[in-house]
Amino acid sequence: MSASSSNGSRNGKVVPADFPPPVDSPKEFIKRGLDGEDERIEVGVAIVGGGTAGLACANRLLQLLADDEALMERLGEVPVAIVEKAKTCGGHNLSGAVMRPGPLQELFPEMTREEWRKEGFAFGEVTKEAVYMTPTSKLHVRIPTPPPFKNHGNEIVSVSALARFQQRQAEEGGAYVLTETSATQLIVEDGRVVGVRSGDKGRGKDGEPLGNFEPGTDIKAQATVLAEGCWGHLTGAAIREFDLAAGREPQVWELGVKEVWKVPKSLDRLIHTVGPWPAKLPGKYGQVGGTWLYPMKDERTGDHLVSLGFVVGLEYADATTSAHDLLQAFKLHPLVRKILEGGERVAWGAKALPGGGYWSMPKLSMPGAVIVGDAGGMVDTAALKGVHHCITSGKLAAEAIYRALKAGETSFESYEYAIEDSSTGRELYQVRNTRQPFQKGFLRGGPLVNLAIASRGKLPPGRLAWHRNDEKPMFIGDTYKRYPRPDGRYTFDKLSSVFITGNATRDDAPNHIRVQKHVPREVAETWKWMCPAGVYEIPEDAPESGPVDVIVNYTNCVQCGAITAKGGRLTTPEGGDGPLYQIT
Ligand SMILES: Cc1cc2nc3c(=O)[nH]c(=O)nc-3n(C[C@H](O)[C@H](O)[C@H](O)COP(=O)(O)OP(=O)(O)OC[C@H]3O[C@@H](n4cnc5c(N)ncnc54)[C@H](O)[C@@H]3O)c2cc1C
Ligand code: SF4
Repeated sequence: MSASSSNGSRNGKVVPADFPPPVDSPKEFIKRGLDGEDERIEVGVAIVGGGTAGLACANRLLQLLADDEALMERLGEVPVAIVEKAKTCGGHNLSGAVMRPGPLQELFPEMTREEWRKEGFAFGEVTKEAVYMTPTSKLHVRIPTPPPFKNHGNEIVSVSALARFQQRQAEEGGAYVLTETSATQLIVEDGRVVGVRSGDKGRGKDGEPLGNFEPGTDIKAQATVLAEGCWGHLTGAAIREFDLAAGREPQVWELGVKEVWKVPKSLDRLIHTVGPWPAKLPGKYGQVGGTWLYPMKDERTGDHLVSLGFVVGLEYADATTSAHDLLQAFKLHPLVRKILEGGERVAWGAKALPGGGYWSMPKLSMPGAVIVGDAGGMVDTAALKGVHHCITSGKLAAEAIYRALKAGETSFESYEYAIEDSSTGRELYQVRNTRQPFQKGFLRGGPLVNLAIASRGKLPPGRLAWHRNDEKPMFIGDTYKRYPRPDGRYTFDKLSSVFITGNATRDDAPNHIRVQKHVPREVAETWKWMCPAGVYEIPEDAPESGPVDVIVNYTNCVQCGAITAKGGRLTTPEGGDGPLYQIT
């Protein structure tokens, strides 16, 4: 491992943004005009993404349509279609997840929380909680619970299991759920979104059609809902096409790695740790991260489970930062080790989340389409809460689309105002400046963060700026020295972690990861360490400094989306590829 080196770019600083991915978004991801009537599918509302937000939109729309036969008929044979790239809804969804219950209760008012637990997506109400500082790998100090970490009364859920439940509800209500289907292009005609195109299947490594080749299809829709989650492939194209990010702060991201453990003894409280360990404290590392440990009681099997994970802001500067390995280190802290003692890991996964909050949210509607959930940046990262915002946004989008279609109107703009006036708009506005100060590091940013929390968003005044994650100069530091050697019992390497996700990407599938393959060592090391799935490799004989070649083992990819924050691009893989999360 070399000491920090430079290759001369930006006054000796190596910045991932200077090595952008080979992508021409308007040309590749926007299709101008629909195929002829015989070659396309027509649906009423097309929802791209069968996660919590997209399915909440479907669930609400179908509730409204159930009482409105006339509109149901006007929407045609397929009133609501959901396009999901995973093998089943939930297959690509991952969260902590401690959820504020209100929006889900509103969406399914006839269900009790006991029934949620019997359905297998909810795992108990939070009755006790504790927050710790972890100054070192051995110490922990309990601190008073800061307001964003107050979770009393919230419910522990699995978004993966929740999505499968929502999928069943949607199908019972008459939705057509196209799983194993990626939406690869947004179709725009006369300045309006008129649907999406599904991706081809059965292409080889170089894009050549194989024996089982099936071409994609245009899906024409009266309304399109972009519910793609954290890094939205079509959402990104729509943002550029309709200039939806004009006047907003850039989006920034965080990366979370999670495990679920079956443990012999139940954990009696929800735990958060706020660092600084396992992240590095000095500001030059740019690392700000936190962890969670959530108790989960599986009512159906009686098993005691624990969800634990580590989230790090992708604004860090040390190229050797690895969320996967920092989580492995965290498990050896005495506080955690005693909770996991005698247990076994039953699930693993990784996913990025949008961290910019209120000021980074794009305009949420465009002609013919709306954006919901994480795709619209609706996450409060100070509290690590997005699930209830996804449900609210999906529901409000459904109501706005329903109103517009019923009245024969073509604008869905009322959705934007509905979000602004909702609990989601208000909560995100209140925490609008709470995370940006951490760009100065944990120590320098901490007091301002506390001020923003204590003043409920009134101070510091104005709008605090975000800097793009890929603009951060990277150096090759020593965070990697913290990573434990995997013992296969408590700590694991990346490949055995990917193995338990049920990842099923074909070995001869086309590469869906776009990165430059000849980049400065700092950039290559950033990708190598950051990727929780071990996708990027640097050849052993590569030079210690200067440009190196990068090997991309894209079939390991779990589609976490983090690469997009640090100079690359996750595009849609073939439908059905990737992990099959069950309980994350
Ligand atoms: C590590 C981590 C911990 C978190 N912890 C919490 C927590 O404790 N509490 C909380 O409230 N929130 C938490 N959040 C945030 C919360 O999980 C998210 O806000 C929420 O799950 C996002 O839901 P979504 O439906 O918008 O997106 P997603 O769940 O990402 O769903 C998007 C879906 O769209 C599909 N898709 C995307 N693009 C396409 C395409 N082009 N074609 C077809 N399908 C596509 C994906 O496969 C996926 O199924 C956490 C997030 C992370 C990453
Ligand atoms: S290659 Fe896949 S798993 Fe690895 S960082 Fe990129 S998106 Fe995440």
